[in-house]
Amino acid sequence: MSLSQLARSIVESPTVSLNEEARLLRERGEPVIHLGIGEPKNKTPFQAILAGAARLTSGDVKYTPVEGTPSLRKAIIRYTEENYDRLVAPENVIVTIGAKNAIWMVLFTLLNPGDEVIILAPYWVSYPEMVRMCQGVPVIVTPEDGTFVPRFEEIERAVSSSTRAIIVNSPNNPSGAIYPPELIAQLVDFCERRGIYYIADDIYHKLVFDGKRAVPAYSFTQKDVNASHIIVINGVAKLYGMTGFRIGWAVASREIIEIMRRVQSQTVTTPAAILQAAAEGALNGMQSVVEALRLHVQNNRDVLLQELKTFQDVRCIRPEGTFYALPDFRAYSQDSMALARFLLQKALVVTVPGREFGMEGHLRISYAGETRDVVEGIARIRWALDPTSPNEIYIGDRRMVRDWL
Ligand code: PMP
Repeated sequence: MSLSQLARSIVESPTVSLNEEARLLRERGEPVIHLGIGEPKNKTPFQAILAGAARLTSGDVKYTPVEGTPSLRKAIIRYTEENYDRLVAPENVIVTIGAKNAIWMVLFTLLNPGDEVIILAPYWVSYPEMVRMCQGVPVIVTPEDGTFVPRFEEIERAVSSSTRAIIVNSPNNPSGAIYPPELIAQLVDFCERRGIYYIADDIYHKLVFDGKRAVPAYSFTQKDVNASHIIVINGVAKLYGMTGFRIGWAVASREIIEIMRRVQSQTVTTPAAILQAAAEGALNGMQSVVEALRLHVQNNRDVLLQELKTFQDVRCIRPEGTFYALPDFRAYSQDSMALARFLLQKALVVTVPGREFGMEGHLRISYAGETRDVVEGIARIRWALDPTSPNEIYIGDRRMVRDWL
């Protein structure tokens, strides 16, 4: 085949097949519980609906400026000032098709072939593939002590003369860990001194629990945004539950944003006008929707931890943010893909294998949805795996008897 070797080498997420299996089961009427999906169940915030609808009904839906509408970028500038204590200019902001495309364009803008990008495990599945698509080399740093937070020395050891950037996602998908401020401070200082780009994927930054805070990287540099190596990625998907709107953004030096603007102009032209209007409505609207979501997922986190305690052999590091947890199931299986498939087939529960995030033996559990799904989903998993649990359970209206332990 004479197709691009690079494009052909990009792997499809193995969870796609699990999700497909789950969809088929659901279509057959099976009561599948989805603890795999990373999106909140809330309705779109009212002000976002109104703003998007107003743009649509105006009948004036045309190309917008490549970098996004001036009014949305103004809302992002205000958001950056309020949440990051940084005043940035319009030329420091670009609106993108989701945070995902912002990360991809940042990597495309920064990397020459063979440049290395440090990725901290556990990591979001798309980072290594995106780095490779931009002809870079992903360098994974896995915490040696079995926690989800690497030590600064471990990261420093992975840096070489080819290191161009590090991606820092805190609160972290999939572990829910918030990296301590001391680590962020050390990393920012190191990156600024060494000219390494610090890409902060802040997509979950307000979904934090127990009064903790994900301290922004900007807090640790005196440099002006145009001189700094910090690039901040954010978007409306997770905080406002607006995953389908596909609006994200990047804040960075004028030089980087200008190149991203050119890349965007030659690829997607601009994110859709109606969706930009809706995102603006969310940013300018009542922020209590974010707090309501935060409280809901914090409560779900507590419920999940409580339920996991009933297992004899599952260990779970307490998530401090996001809507994910990454419990350790190695007592039951070393192969997380096989385990996830087993749980789907036997217990009709969807989870995501930790192998995809660089943490084999773990399962990522999403608690973005209904509390009762968390409770029932974990009860079913316990029934399927834990010999100390009763060997009968009702799944839907069917009485199931465990005959494999
Ligand atoms: N970064 C992380 C860590 C994510 O989990 C996600 C979504 N799963 C994204 C970025 C992408 O966000 P968006 O939907 O805005 O593209």
